[in-house]
Amino acid sequence: MKLYKIKKSNIDKKGLYAKKNIKSGTRIIQYKGKIITNSEVERNPKYDNDKDIYLFDINKRYSLDGDYSWNVAKNINHSCDPNCEVDGTGYKIYVTAIKNIKKNEELTYDYGFSYDEDYKQFPCKCRAKNCCGYIVRSESRWRINKKFRKSSRINK
Ligand SMILES: [Zn+2]
Repeated sequence: MKLYKIKKSNIDKKGLYAKKNIKSGTRIIQYKGKIITNSEVERNPKYDNDKDIYLFDINKRYSLDGDYSWNVAKNINHSCDPNCEVDGTGYKIYVTAIKNIKKNEELTYDYGFSYDEDYKQFPCKCRAKNCCGYIVRSESRWRINKKFRKSSRINK
């Protein structure tokens, strides 16, 4: 049985929501896509623009491009206080719960965008208490807002 459903979201147009209570550590959905070589990523103009939202590193040679309508997991929104994480085993990538998630809660993960000069193109609407206002990975948020400085020292 599926653990998720697609629904209208407060963060973005659509999002994925828990269909029932989900325990921390549960694998919720596979993040599907096509395996491409990293040299293809460098060559293909499709991957030039802004941020590679749907692109995941598999290893030194390959990446996974999840920018396809059949990749349901691509509807998951970013949050600064996420309840899921994305990680891979071999050539497969899964979205896994990192907290106990209640039925009807929106599923989110940290998109992990690095901090660079165009971060302002990606405002964050996650409404988490620790939201820094932009979609930037947690280790870099102190660059945007000083209140994140302390935790960044611990992480780095
Ligand atoms: Zn946020």
